[in-house]
Amino acid sequence: MFKAEQNVLNEAQLLIEQDRASANESVDAWRSAYIALCDQFASLLRDSMKLTAAGDLSYRRLIKAKEEIERLNRENYHLAIFDSLTEVNNRYYLMDQYGKEFAKALRHDSPLALILIDLDHFKQINDEFGHQVGDEVLRSVSQRIKGQVRQQDTFGRYGGEEFLLILPGIEVADAALVAEKIRTLVSADPFAIGVHKITITISLGLAQFSSTRDVNRDVFLLRADQAMYEAKIRGRNQMVIDGVSP
Ligand code: GH3
Ligand code: MG
Ligand code: MG
Repeated sequence: MFKAEQNVLNEAQLLIEQDRASANESVDAWRSAYIALCDQFASLLRDSMKLTAAGDLSYRRLIKAKEEIERLNRENYHLAIFDSLTEVNNRYYLMDQYGKEFAKALRHDSPLALILIDLDHFKQINDEFGHQVGDEVLRSVSQRIKGQVRQQDTFGRYGGEEFLLILPGIEVADAALVAEKIRTLVSADPFAIGVHKITITISLGLAQFSSTRDVNRDVFLLRADQAMYEAKIRGRNQMVIDGVSP
């Protein structure tokens, strides 16, 4: 690095020393040699500055590219874990969280509740108002429920018009209160979608983790599912707790 520049400086130094040693030399010859060296040095300096500027530009481009990659990563992560229609967590994320919470409950025998939520007669909404209105209903219902969810809970779209709420560290009586609160919140006020005012009811299945019964995560989830179907059979717009008689 800077070898050429160093050579020029060395030559200039030599010239000055020679000038000191022999006072007889022609001043003009010395001066033109010295000026030539200065020009050479200036040219080398310009080249170095150009290289530095190019380096700076490359560095700035590199930083910009790094920021863009980070932005795309964030976007990808968002797409990977959120449902694009309802903007609540998707099934992939739900199942991932469920796996973790189930393992924790199993290891420590700690409380864990599941609430499976299904919109009642949702097919009729699509048939009556059209699929787009149906989509809007799904979005609005999701957002209304999401507003009720504690930070430690996970709420997401399980599929179609079904949603799952995972509540760690909560006993069955409190989970039942949460389920009832969600049920009344959804059905209390109709959803205003365009010119339509649409009343929606939901059926909810609640299951509380039991270390003796829930030998694996599928069994536990199935209990919530069965409770939800029981709520449908009993007339919809209600919550059923698995294993608890009415
Ligand atoms: P039930 O009370 O027994 O649950 O009746 P249901 O009509 O809600 O249940 P069913 O399983 O017969 O129909 C579910 C409907 O949900 C049918 C399907 O077209 C609709 N659906 C599922 N996903 C979407 C969606 O993303 N957008 C819209 N608009 N409709 C959807
Ligand atoms: Mg369904
Ligand atoms: Mg349904």
